[in-house]
Amino acid sequence: MLKFIRPELAQLVAYAPHPEGTIAPDTLPDFPPVATLDQLNANESPYDLPLVLKQKLAWAYQQELATNRYPDSGHAMLKQAIADYVNEGSGAAITAEQIALGNGSDELIRSLLIATCLGGQGSILVADPTFVMYGILAQTLGIPVVAVGRSETTFAMDLTAAQAALVQTQDPPIRVVFVVHPNSPTANLLTEAEITWLRQLPEHILVVIDEAYFEFSQHTLVSELAQQPNWVILRTFSKALRLASHRVGYAIAAAPLTAILEKVRLPYNLPAASQAAALVALQHREQLLSVIPSMLTARSQILATLARHPQLQVWPSAANFVYLRLRPEGLVSQPSADGALARLTELLKRQGTLVRQISGGLRVTIGTPEENQRFLERLAIALAHL
Ligand SMILES: *Cc1c(COP(=O)(O)O)cnc(C)c1O
Repeated sequence: MLKFIRPELAQLVAYAPHPEGTIAPDTLPDFPPVATLDQLNANESPYDLPLVLKQKLAWAYQQELATNRYPDSGHAMLKQAIADYVNEGSGAAITAEQIALGNGSDELIRSLLIATCLGGQGSILVADPTFVMYGILAQTLGIPVVAVGRSETTFAMDLTAAQAALVQTQDPPIRVVFVVHPNSPTANLLTEAEITWLRQLPEHILVVIDEAYFEFSQHTLVSELAQQPNWVILRTFSKALRLASHRVGYAIAAAPLTAILEKVRLPYNLPAASQAAALVALQHREQLLSVIPSMLTARSQILATLARHPQLQVWPSAANFVYLRLRPEGLVSQPSADGALARLTELLKRQGTLVRQISGGLRVTIGTPEENQRFLERLAIALAHL
């Protein structure tokens, strides 16, 4: 319609964090109207920043931050604080120049794509199901996405297919492999076989290891970066560190690679208030992360309860969410698995719990104890109405 727009963008559907349901309301039972929704659909922390830390930030905003001035574009203090945090207990010796900051790790994903594949120079490889943003951002830049599958039982990548794709993909060849550790939406860690495969990839292929859920998994490959000049690790303040609203992500890599990311980004990509918030979060990380053990206990309890439902299939999780699917034999009254999942999602929403329908399953974030309890009760009711 707009003749000046690249035609491939016409087909692209904009990313919708909360897609609208497609279930006809008259096919659903009546539930009483709900006042608030439990947001278990975006893998955020269920806990806001403690009030004292918000007050600290408010004070900084009033007393220290000049809104008429551009923010610190070099992010020097924050980079050093992040490097210290990354090194803690990891055996790594990351320096501040090995950190690059983004407006969310989404920005860093886009910068990596621009730096490697733009202009017909490269394709990317992903293993579906995985974080959708790699594919979406690649498509907006006209970068081809090659997708291989995963085991239906463990969600381990099909490494034979991945290796074949690397050999066979030409015009343009694969320049970047994206993996998530642990994966979203399936919550599994990289296996030893996958890590071994990543280690031997040639130096002309960039390996992006997204550790958005590191604080929940406690698994990181950061100590291997010194031996792997073609690896980059992505992390974020959006999940365990409770700052999704502030959009702060970071990359850890060899200094020559972070220097490239600095060239590609927008000059003032990180607002001053977000830099201040990230610093406060790191200064108070012990307090912010202290809720994680109880969230992991809640995760085990939720998984155990879900595993007892004959209609559900569940998998272990190394993150702050669980992934479930409907067993085929439970679908007799439904035309398709996706139809049944859409109905299940809507039945939960009508009762007040938001979850994410994705890749033939549901991804459910671990919330507060009350939210988790309500989810389990509402899910039992929803399954009875399937
Ligand atoms: C949530 C998430 C991110 C975080 O993105 P931000 O832009 O930093 O909020 C990155 N990668 C994965 C796999 C995620 O699930």
